[in-house]
Amino acid sequence: MIIAIDGPAASGKGTIARRLAAHYGLPHLDTGLLYRATARVLLDRGERLDDAERATAAARGLALTDFDEDLLRGAEMGDAASVVGAIPDVRAALLDMQRNFAARDGGAVLDGRDIGTVICPDADAKIFVTAEPETRAQRRALELAGRGEKVDFTDVLADIRKRDDRDSARSSAPLVAAADAVRLDTTALDIESAVAEAVAIVEARRKG
Ligand code: C5P
Repeated sequence: MIIAIDGPAASGKGTIARRLAAHYGLPHLDTGLLYRATARVLLDRGERLDDAERATAAARGLALTDFDEDLLRGAEMGDAASVVGAIPDVRAALLDMQRNFAARDGGAVLDGRDIGTVICPDADAKIFVTAEPETRAQRRALELAGRGEKVDFTDVLADIRKRDDRDSARSSAPLVAAADAVRLDTTALDIESAVAEAVAIVEARRKG
């Protein structure tokens, strides 16, 4: 069974994906890490994030074991990831890695922005997770504070809105719900309720 979870930053999609993977005993890939790791390589080399050729080479050189999540989860890396994610050749370079992960025996759970639309258009279940920007900013601010980062709510909200705009406006695989995705708005839900709803959505899909 392949489960595709998409949605904007801090919508809850990562937690929902991880919990669904544990529930069904499936491997999980957070595809945002691929874009974050690509951006990290460029920054470490002192290269520009919008240099399409170098960004594509960095994406091609990634391995799934490369990810130091601690280095990649910071606020500035999310923004940097969305710059490289707007480069069509970067997305093409990361396609096979994601599709191969999804094709594992037994299936997988993947979360990102284009899983249901581009990476796994035939996924067995697709969920598009949303929440109001202010709610997402509150969650992200808490998460960053928990990592010891200095946070200003207004900055976090502005970053979320900027990323939403960039991810939705890009020409290649924009952030959009697949036509056959079920929408799950987590604005008023705690994590347990959101996960319960996600499981119910998957179960409904499995039963056809
Ligand atoms: O999900 P996360 O916040 O880690 O993603 C960081 C950025 O990577 C997103 O804002 C988006 O621009 C990009 N991304 C993407 N496609 C994916 C996953 C992430 O374009 N499947």
